[in-house]
Amino acid sequence: MNIREYIKTNRILYTISQFNSHSNIYLVGGGVRDLLLHRSVLDIDIVFETLDYKFLDYLTDVFKVESIIKSPFLTWKISIGDIEIDLAHTRGEYYREPGALPETYPVHSIYQDLKRRDFTINSIACILTPNTGDIVDPMDGYHDLKEGILRVLKAGSFLEDPTRAFRAIRYKNRFGFIYHPLTEEEFEHAKKLMSRISASRVRNELERISVEENRKEMFREIGLKKLLFHWRDFFNTFREDMLVSLHEYLDFEKDTWFYFLLVYTRDIEALGGCGLLERKERRSLERILALDRIEKEIMPEELHRWFRKFSDDEVLAAGALQGLKKEILRKYLLRRKDVRVLHDAEEIKEMGIPASRLNEILTILEIEKMKGKLRSKREEEQFLRVLKSRHTFLP
Ligand code: ATP
Repeated sequence: MNIREYIKTNRILYTISQFNSHSNIYLVGGGVRDLLLHRSVLDIDIVFETLDYKFLDYLTDVFKVESIIKSPFLTWKISIGDIEIDLAHTRGEYYREPGALPETYPVHSIYQDLKRRDFTINSIACILTPNTGDIVDPMDGYHDLKEGILRVLKAGSFLEDPTRAFRAIRYKNRFGFIYHPLTEEEFEHAKKLMSRISASRVRNELERISVEENRKEMFREIGLKKLLFHWRDFFNTFREDMLVSLHEYLDFEKDTWFYFLLVYTRDIEALGGCGLLERKERRSLERILALDRIEKEIMPEELHRWFRKFSDDEVLAAGALQGLKKEILRKYLLRRKDVRVLHDAEEIKEMGIPASRLNEILTILEIEKMKGKLRSKREEEQFLRVLKSRHTFLP
């Protein structure tokens, strides 16, 4: 489907295009790029050259807009059902210092807005008026899209914003493009200033990569180019074998991103202190690194001895790093999901089992139940009595 047809069939874009007869409202960024690549459009980013509050009123009237979130930077986020649209005034940007967030100022020309962007393929706009769907392409992005080239807009682009190095890796590997020589040169610039980027910006880039289908290639390139090492020098290893396993085992969810950090470092102290991790994430990594070796040929239920307190993702990440088979881990997770001990903690303590032994006892009970034993409360009780008579519970 070409871009015009798409606009006609997309309720939101069509409605916007019907409002505007002055050709100053545009679809921009990833949405245009994806349409030209015949991929599905995930983001709708709209910019307008003239701020017209009637336009916002119009959208609110036509759609059941659930929220309009305004920001001081002349941007609005509106939700229509489960679709989010970003609206913004055309704007220019400048960076007070490399790695800082950009300062923005309104401009009244789409050309200036397109020139502040990262790559030519992201610097194409599509005019939204009743009869068009024409593109505005001052940087020749459409040519690069067709040729499969990722080109920065100017020399020094990554000096302005070194996070563009991560973005470059994401786009190149997502689309199977090659770097333009100008882009290649920019990686050297990015390295020089990488250490200035805030932890939250690095985190954001890594989270975005962790949900990409080709994340393995992306994380590999980050390792080979030593981008994280240039950010903080304790990221001084690159374990390709770990990357391959984590990629294979972990779901493509944003909150799995931090497990991939172990590919580049084992220095949990430094990692915990660098601002990238939330407390919970740090604890997960500590727990995984503190595990003893688990033998490979193990019955799924027996994994409970190590993993009772681990979340599903932690089990998969730890199992990947230990070289355990994925089917065994999946079987274990499936079995433990349905396990319910019929005695509560108080009842177990009343049987004379000390509180300090409760975890141990519950682990054993749950393992037995995962094996399909101890189906009734009575059977559980008998088993508990036998356990109580033993001196130690877990080998
Ligand atoms: P994706 O498909 O990965 O979401 P996207 O192109 O929609 O890609 P966003 O991060 O949502 O990417 O950004 C929207 C647009 O804003 C980009 O297409 C690009 O033009 C511009 N942009 C985003 N980040 C930067 C940056 N760091 N430097 C310059 N331009 C940027």
